[in-house]
Amino acid sequence: MSMSCDQPDLLPLDEALTRLWEALPAPSLPSVRAGRDDPAMALATMDGVALRASEGRSPRRNLGTLFAGDDPSLFEVVPGTAVRIMTGAALPAGADAIVPVEAIEALGDHVRPRIDPSPGDHVRPRGEHAKAGDLLLAAGAPLNAARVALLAMEGLFQPAARRIRVAVASTGNELVAVPAPHQIRDSNGPMLSALAHTLGAEVELRPALPDDPATLAAALVHAGDIRILITSGGVSMGEHDHLPSVLKELGATILFHKIRLKPGKPMLAALLGDLLVLGLPGNPVSAYLNALLFLPLALARLEGRTRPDPWRHAPLRVAVKHKGDRPLMHPCRLVEGVLEPLPGGGPADLVTLAKADVFAWVEPGGTAAGAQVRYLSVL
Ligand code: AMP
Ligand code: MG
Repeated sequence: MSMSCDQPDLLPLDEALTRLWEALPAPSLPSVRAGRDDPAMALATMDGVALRASEGRSPRRNLGTLFAGDDPSLFEVVPGTAVRIMTGAALPAGADAIVPVEAIEALGDHVRPRIDPSPGDHVRPRGEHAKAGDLLLAAGAPLNAARVALLAMEGLFQPAARRIRVAVASTGNELVAVPAPHQIRDSNGPMLSALAHTLGAEVELRPALPDDPATLAAALVHAGDIRILITSGGVSMGEHDHLPSVLKELGATILFHKIRLKPGKPMLAALLGDLLVLGLPGNPVSAYLNALLFLPLALARLEGRTRPDPWRHAPLRVAVKHKGDRPLMHPCRLVEGVLEPLPGGGPADLVTLAKADVFAWVEPGGTAAGAQVRYLSVL
């Protein structure tokens, strides 16, 4: 195995991921305090009958029914009475227990428990979860769906703040709608916008850009109100690979360019003001793999969520040879928990990519059959 041909200073993938994560601003949540007790009144936790536990199994006269959302002051459970009550309804005055409907016998306008009730049965007491003024969420907590619910509970939910706007633009003079044999269609654009859509972004697929620095610069400067521009192509060493120099001329901060990964080495990430540019390589498998690695991270950060950990582990059914000095991510099927490397799977091999369930991580030097490796699911 040779360690000589690749640049030894290529940025390791995990460092590139962390660098991107740390470079992006996370919207931080303010601290959230309870505006009222949670729950604000004692509530029924089962459908049943609200009654006075001290009256045991004796029959009571049913005064009526309380549904969730009903004002409980409609009723007062005085001795000898009860009120039918549904889950989520507030407990009427006088009642201190719920007997579930399954344990109730109906006798005309009376009800009789078949069990001995105890005070507090099937009642969620006022303030059980929080008292008014309690700290519910410390400032700066990452957002997740449960915390969105908590914000909504407190009347603080802002739905408009949730979707990140992403634009996708391929680059390359060879990309045309009706290709002659020396030309191709833009497959990366639809692929990357589908991925961004799957990841919950608001996506706009733009027409492919020609390999012309001025056009590229104009597209970057007039990106509009998007947060992430995903490009593909034009980031390697070719004479038409203009994106890195155009970004530099515009004064962008290059977060990294070139990572220690096969395929996908030319990967570029840059900040142009507030705009994150993910400059993916043009080869479809490289573009897809890098998008799978970097886009979920960027979206999570910009949405204020915790850093996602997409890695899983499974054994390889067969040994994978790998002579290069960059880690290889190879397309595999995942069959009953075992990774089966697909034949082929080079950086331009969309046919194999479309058969893959995952990309498996193969260290330089190769990996033995049965070895546990980390893998990333395709989306
Ligand atoms: P590049 O990174 O621009 O040098 O492109 C590398 C390879 O990927 C070339 O063979 C390109 O023709 C191909 N390629 C670039 N962009 C696309 C695209 N949008 N769809 C399909 N193939 C592409
Ligand atoms: Mg190109």
